[in-house]
Amino acid sequence: MQYEAVIGLEIHAQLLTESKMFCGCSVKFGSEPNTQTCPVCIGMPGVLPVMNKKAIEYVIKTGLAVNCKIAPYSRFARKNYFYPDLPKGYQISQYELPICENGFVEITVNGETRKIGLTRIHLEEDAGKNIHEGAGNYSFVDLNRAGTPLMEIVSEPDIRSPQEAAEFVKKLRAIVRYIGVCDGNMEQGSLRCDANVSVRPAGQKEFGTRTEIKNMNSFKFIEKALDYEIKRQIKILNEGGRIVQETRLWDSNRGITESMRSKEEAHDYRYFPDPDLVPVEVNNVWIEQIRTQLVEMPDARRQRFITQYGLPEQDADLLTSERAIAEWFEQAVKLGGDPKGVSNWMMGELMRLLNEENRPFDECPLKSAQLVEMLVLIEKGTISGKIAKTVFEEMYKTGKDADVIVKEKGLVQVSDESEIEKVVDDIFVKNLKEVERFKAGEEKLLGFFAGQVMKATKGKANPKMVNELLKKKLSGIS
Ligand code: ADP
Ligand code: MG
Ligand code: ZN
Repeated sequence: MQYEAVIGLEIHAQLLTESKMFCGCSVKFGSEPNTQTCPVCIGMPGVLPVMNKKAIEYVIKTGLAVNCKIAPYSRFARKNYFYPDLPKGYQISQYELPICENGFVEITVNGETRKIGLTRIHLEEDAGKNIHEGAGNYSFVDLNRAGTPLMEIVSEPDIRSPQEAAEFVKKLRAIVRYIGVCDGNMEQGSLRCDANVSVRPAGQKEFGTRTEIKNMNSFKFIEKALDYEIKRQIKILNEGGRIVQETRLWDSNRGITESMRSKEEAHDYRYFPDPDLVPVEVNNVWIEQIRTQLVEMPDARRQRFITQYGLPEQDADLLTSERAIAEWFEQAVKLGGDPKGVSNWMMGELMRLLNEENRPFDECPLKSAQLVEMLVLIEKGTISGKIAKTVFEEMYKTGKDADVIVKEKGLVQVSDESEIEKVVDDIFVKNLKEVERFKAGEEKLLGFFAGQVMKATKGKANPKMVNELLKKKLSGIS
């Protein structure tokens, strides 16, 4: 039996506001436990929440970026459950009236572009964190994160493969980072994703019973966890079993998903409108004002890079995957860099150096102008393309400009014909046998001679001149 996977994702994104959703505490990551708390976010009785307007603005901004309808009227609801990291006994969330509905994003996998529907985007507060390592039989609760504004993006069950799921998360991550509403850091948990997955016999219309997988904090794990879970479900069905609707946890060490708890239903949460908060009314003036803050989205920019700069798709993909990368590129082109030349250096050497240090592009120590100045040196023939790699790495590591490095290290390309000629003659004398063989018709030895000259000049000889000179002299000999 052939099966088809059906996947719907729920993405939680912490918003880049200064303060929490309903109080003035900071949302900074990594502080001493419980130093960013107040009576509101630790759930003291008698306190009142006050809405963070910026957070609402960020959700609207996201909604506009992903083609959603912005609700003129929405409200907060209490989602009741008991857990130590939730001192109030309820989470303030949204239920029947979210801020955004009915959007979509497009993803491309294996050359096929598909539209993935977005059911809704709502706003809620994050919970605290339980910490189980440290002291014997105790657990700790850190409430620094409690009350952090959290945006939940829910997709339609439109995704059909683990690869598409990862691509979908990548796309949304790029968008929230482009518009500056979330830093997208999956390791630190500021972007988290739960996956709902079921399988059905190919051709069947009805969906199968789904499980929900939690705890996948990288693109690789999303793919692996879904892959595992789809195979697990198919095996059960093939053996005549039934899928249990439940929440499962991805264990990245063992590479499996494990049952965590049976699936709760909405009525388990006893949702009701939060009586402490007024409804949210959004008028068109506000929406339009937020729309003006929207930057060009990754897809549009990618398309423009292809048409405006004549870049191959692969280059455009990488260069628009992050706003910082795209901006760096465009700055370089604006300063006179040849688009494909700039792209080659970025996709090759620059990415290699950043990856070596595991450094995000935002922290790129090199400026666009520095690359452009180096490209000018290559073009003028001051340095060879080969030497340029050394110069580039040195620029990256020291922050010095190319011309300074070239001077300091004596890397200027030798384009003086008589100087190269001396070296060539010397190489001939030292390699008489090879000269004989060349004369006897072994023309591929030209490369050998060129290599020897480059070695003797530490890569500084102008390669074009070396080749021409070698040809001239060798034909003269024979
Ligand atoms: P809940 O709030 O209980 O998690 P929702 O109806 O909000 O349930 O759905 C959550 C996610 O599950 C959505 O992304 C939706 O697309 C997805 N989903 C719903 N039914 C299925 C199914 N049968 N198989 C796979 N995904 C599903
Ligand atoms: Mg859910
Ligand atoms: Zn607080």
